[in-house]
Amino acid sequence: MRIPMDAFVPYPETEISPAVTLQMESVEGYPVRSANLERFTLVSHKDHSLSVRYAGNAVVTIPCGRCLTPVATAVSFEGERKFSLEEKTDEEGYPACCIGEEGLDLEELLSEEIAMNLPIRVLCKETCKGLCPVCGGNLNLRDCGCKAETAPTRLAEALKNALGERSN
Ligand SMILES: [Zn+2]
Ligand SMILES: [Zn+2]
Repeated sequence: MRIPMDAFVPYPETEISPAVTLQMESVEGYPVRSANLERFTLVSHKDHSLSVRYAGNAVVTIPCGRCLTPVATAVSFEGERKFSLEEKTDEEGYPACCIGEEGLDLEELLSEEIAMNLPIRVLCKETCKGLCPVCGGNLNLRDCGCKAETAPTRLAEALKNALGERSN
């Protein structure tokens, strides 16, 4: 949703809480299932700056870090940002891509916010067995047998031989 610039101008130092519907398809390439704002307030100041306060939650589909199964992941976010409406910069002076001639692009602002709050690693379950390094099969779904019968057995034999040679 884009909030037009002229919505801010007639209300200096005034707080408005417009009803907002978010339409987000993806964040950082991950599909967004839902995104909701619980609180959202705009304050336009006399110096042509704009404060935005927001809190909400989203559900983002992220692949499991071990087996790549998509996992619906809840992300909550909360923050306050201040922008210069004339310079179109944020509080640190960097260009703000969510502020344009047409106004404030809320999805742009909040997708940055959600991206910052994404978990570093997502697992489908704590005990996820991951993918077989030999055949790539999902080890949660079936035991392909590759791993159990090749690598560990060879390693065990090699150790046994090495230890046997040493003790002889
Ligand atoms: Zn997994
Ligand atoms: Zn395998």
